[in-house]
Parts: sequence; C-alpha cells; structure tokens
Amino acid sequence: MTECLVDAYDAALFDLDGVIYLGPVAVEGAVGAMASLEAHGKRVMYVTNNAARSSQTVVDHLRQLGFTAAESTVLTSAQVAAVGIARVLPPGSAVLVAGSASLVDLIREVGLTPVSSADADPVAVIQGYDPQLTWPMLDEVCLAIQRGATWFATNDDASRPTDRGIVPGLGAMLAVVSTAIGGAPAAIFGKPFRPMLAEAVQRTGAQHPIFVGDRIDTDIIGANRAAMDSLLVFSGAHGKSDLLAAGPGERPTHIGADIAALLLPPRRLLPIATGVACGGQRVELHGREAVIVSQPITLQEQLDALWALAALAWGDPALETDGALADLDLLP
Ligand SMILES: [Mg+2]
Repeated sequence: MTECLVDAYDAALFDLDGVIYLGPVAVEGAVGAMASLEAHGKRVMYVTNNAARSSQTVVDHLRQLGFTAAESTVLTSAQVAAVGIARVLPPGSAVLVAGSASLVDLIREVGLTPVSSADADPVAVIQGYDPQLTWPMLDEVCLAIQRGATWFATNDDASRPTDRGIVPGLGAMLAVVSTAIGGAPAAIFGKPFRPMLAEAVQRTGAQHPIFVGDRIDTDIIGANRAAMDSLLVFSGAHGKSDLLAAGPGERPTHIGADIAALLLPPRRLLPIATGVACGGQRVELHGREAVIVSQPITLQEQLDALWALAALAWGDPALETDGALADLDLLP
C-alpha cells in the first residue's frame, strides 16, 4: 500500500472556511476525501474561529454539504472561550457578553451569568463576532472595562472574507475598543492562540495530530505555537507567494492543493548540487535568482516545484523568486 501523508498522524484537525467549504459550497473533492480519512480510522475535528454560529449550526451545515459530522467533532472559539473564562472566574460571576445569542448560551452553560449592561457590575467582558453588534453595546464594553472588568475575546481575526469582498472581523471591533480606551484583551482564545488547539487536542485525545488550514496567520502560526505539524492547503485564502513570504514560526510542515493531500505521499526534499529537488522537480540557484529547471505541468508537479522553491527562499530572503512563481500558473 502506498504511504499517505496522514499515516504519520492519529488525528486530523481542520479549519473550515477555505478548507472544507467556501461559504455555502463544499471545496471540490472534500466530501470524498473526508470519507476516506474516516475509513482510514483517523480521528477528525473541525476547528473554527467563527464565534457566532453554535456547534450544532455548524454540524447542520456540514451535513447539508454531505459530510458526516457530530457535535463532538466541531469546536468553535466561543466554546473554548466559555470554558476558558469559567476556569478563571468564580461560578455565577456576571459576564458582559458582546456577542451572538449562541455565545450568551455558552456563557450560561458554563455556570456564569451573562449580562448586557456595565451597570450590572460584570467582572469580565467577552467579545465575540456578532453580525447584530450595536454601537450602544460597544459603549457598555468600554464602560465595563474602565470599571475594572477583565477583557476577553473569542478571536482576533481582523477581517472576514465573504463572497462580496473583505469585511471587518472581530479583531476590528477589538481595535475600536482599544482605540477608545487603550489596552488589549487579557486573553484571546481562537487561532492562532494556544487555547483553541490545546482544547481540540484534549477533546480528540490525539497523541500526534496534524492541523489543516488555508491561512498562515491563524492556522499555520497556531499549529506551530501548539508544536503541531500542519498542512497548508491552497483551496482558500493564501497562495504561493504567501508561502514564500512566511518567516520562521510561520511555515507549514506540508503543503497541498486541498485536503486530499492527506491521502497522497508526503513531499520530500532532496538537496542537489545547485539547489533543491522535490518529486521530479528541480529548482536551481542561478546567481541571485531561483530558477525551476524542470517543467512542472500538472498541479502536483507545480506543488513539488513550489515546495523546493520555498526551501530555497526560506534559506535566503533576498532570493529573486518572481520568475519561478510565474511558472507555477496552476497555483493561486
Ligand atoms: Mg480558513
């Protein structure tokens, strides 16, 4: 049997948007790939920073798209935040919730008392993404923090990609509060911060998991901070030039077109006299320039060439790579 990338791991943790689905539609091939992974006996968990939707809503969405999912296989930053805050506050503490109805429910479920006014003397504030957020609620957040409430946030994504373009994420709302009164949240729970992946590992019981994501700033950095291997897929937000620009601590363990890469052999680099080889592809140094001297035609060949190119570029940030990247025309 051919060796698969996922063979080295006992569990696979997945980001959702850009990895499993793109807004309302499944990423092509993802349903079949996920069914094969489950047939391989791999534990699976879906891990999302989106704090507005309940885990059951996410499960319903996944099932509509054809995935098998259970509530126990979905983890949101709101769940991680509620559990994390409950660990540090006395039971029953009043918490100002500037977030969705689902976040209010979660705060109540962990034994805290959700409130909606600074006048209710909350000991903490939790901000989560809420498409119905109002200016008066931002007032309450600022007032509560100034009166001494500890400031928490589910995640700090600056923006949200939508089918109509880029719009503000929760990070932009944290900046509103910080601009008004200074300071920063005492803790943020979503990727790339550690609590999210630590909770996912604990819930899966995984010994050696791999994290699969489409963003370097949240998914890959988050995996690296959690000392977890990662697979960057090109089905979502980030592409080939983001990969080359990744600094130390921002680089994935593996790359692939999409999650089906878990079912393919892992890419291996081979040093050659004048550069690096991967698969049948060779990238050489010609003076200050990296040149792909093989001819990558298929998508997999282009990924091999990109992986060799990344190895060279990461070793020399001044290396000229524009020409080589232009050759990889099938990659975003
Ligand atoms: Mg994503």
